[in-house]
Amino acid sequence: MNRKMRNVEDVAARHLCMGCGACAGLFPDRVAMVETADHARRPRCLTPAARSGPVADEMMRVCPGAETQYRRDEEVRGADAGLLDDWGPVLEVWEGHATDRDLRFRGSSGGLVSALALYGIERGGMGGALHVKARRDVPFLNESAISTSREQLLEGAGSRYAPASPCDRLGEVESSPRPVVFIGKPCDVAAAYRAGRERPRLRGNLGLTIGIFCAGVPSLAATFDLMRHLGADDADDVRELRYRGRGWPGRMTLVASKPGGRTHRASVSYDEGWGEILQKKRQWRCHVCADHTGELADLSVGDPWYRAATPGDPGKSLLVVRTERGRRFLREAMAAGYVSVERRDPSTLPLSQPNLLRVRGSMWGRLLTLRLAGAAYPRYPGMRLFRVWRSRLSWREKAQSFYGTALRILRRRLVADERWRPFAAPAEVAGARAGRGTH
Ligand SMILES: Cc1cc2nc3c(=O)[nH]c(=O)nc-3n(C[C@H](O)[C@H](O)[C@H](O)COP(=O)(O)OP(=O)(O)OC[C@H]3O[C@@H](n4cnc5c(N)ncnc54)[C@H](O)[C@@H]3O)c2cc1C
Ligand code: SF4
Ligand code: SF4
Repeated sequence: MNRKMRNVEDVAARHLCMGCGACAGLFPDRVAMVETADHARRPRCLTPAARSGPVADEMMRVCPGAETQYRRDEEVRGADAGLLDDWGPVLEVWEGHATDRDLRFRGSSGGLVSALALYGIERGGMGGALHVKARRDVPFLNESAISTSREQLLEGAGSRYAPASPCDRLGEVESSPRPVVFIGKPCDVAAAYRAGRERPRLRGNLGLTIGIFCAGVPSLAATFDLMRHLGADDADDVRELRYRGRGWPGRMTLVASKPGGRTHRASVSYDEGWGEILQKKRQWRCHVCADHTGELADLSVGDPWYRAATPGDPGKSLLVVRTERGRRFLREAMAAGYVSVERRDPSTLPLSQPNLLRVRGSMWGRLLTLRLAGAAYPRYPGMRLFRVWRSRLSWREKAQSFYGTALRILRRRLVADERWRPFAAPAEVAGARAGRGTH
């Protein structure tokens, strides 16, 4: 049994915070999101009301960290029955790209997410798109933004493999005069969905939700490893850091200033950067995340890894339609010429993401091991995790889902509380010394 969690600091202490920022987004005067080096972003309660009482209770109902309900009956109607247990509701699968060449080039896969948001803003009646982008003052940190133009969307195109909390601006979506497109990782989408259940005006203003597939978010420490690997010993010198985009999948690229005004540029392939560096330092919560493809979104988008990328490949995105609203929006964006997509057989999804299916398969074993060890574990009512564990894993993988987790419980000290220290970026320290903030 999980020990009682009364507030969002308790969720973080039990290693269950995903860093989505919804608690801070709905109560900006009560909670602030703080950068940490070793985990993701974490909530800090600013007032006693955030720790106990009705405000704290509402945050807990919104927070997806400890529990998220999936796959209620009305969402499942019309979904592919063969894919439901493994991937959640799948109405249609498509592959394609933005027709805007710059969006496609700068996008992670084919720029489909940005193109759909652009359609929403220019022709679909949306007041903007809430998403994340690199901070201009500290380019290896991320910030949330409500973009209202093509240029602003372009700035945010491409995946940021580092902590980001798009939900920390949900309050502005709630008070917006027009609906907004919401873009985030599956946990961000889950938080927005739960927040919408608490706040009807917010629900009405979440005009379309787009989830990006996600194998886990690396900590800032992982980004520092990447920057060092690319030759930036001093984080303050970094002028630009890209993880994806400019072709598919694109190279991880750093631009830094060196003594004498020299500009240093270096890059590493996506495979090496992700496989050898970043993925080794993902926050713990990602290892017990059962939704890696945005099952609560209207549309989910990822990479069509069923085929290998070729040199000079401009890229395409794989798109899953999850809801009727998503289906309508996609048709309208197609008709208006913002996206160029082709229908794919639903089997393209498992063919493209075998790793994500294996992780989902191991989830039942991982959660049971945590429970038996007395460590905190998330709940996913509505998901049939035992069936996926039974049918998708070999005997060896099944055993590994137990002993691998037992080892991690010891190594990561998961029975004890998570300890985190705030990370201050060099520019922030400099700004504070000069008596000014950077936010
Ligand atoms: C941490 C992480 C892990 C991923 N793991 C996988 C995976 O295992 N398999 C897979 O197929 N795809 C994965 N992706 C998604 C993939 O990289 C692309 O984002 C996706 O294919 C959409 O491409 P696109 O060109 O259509 O989107 P684009 O047009 O490039 O738009 C991407 C959108 O995502 C938003 N975004 C970028 N980084 C973040 C972030 N950290 N948090 C919230 N929003 C963000 C941007 O603001 C932008 O609006 C991952 C992405 C991230 C950030
Ligand atoms: S709402 Fe999001 S950021 Fe806040 S505690 Fe929960 S998971 Fe963490
Ligand atoms: S793996 Fe899950 S918990 Fe981790 S960032 Fe991705 S969606 Fe969120």
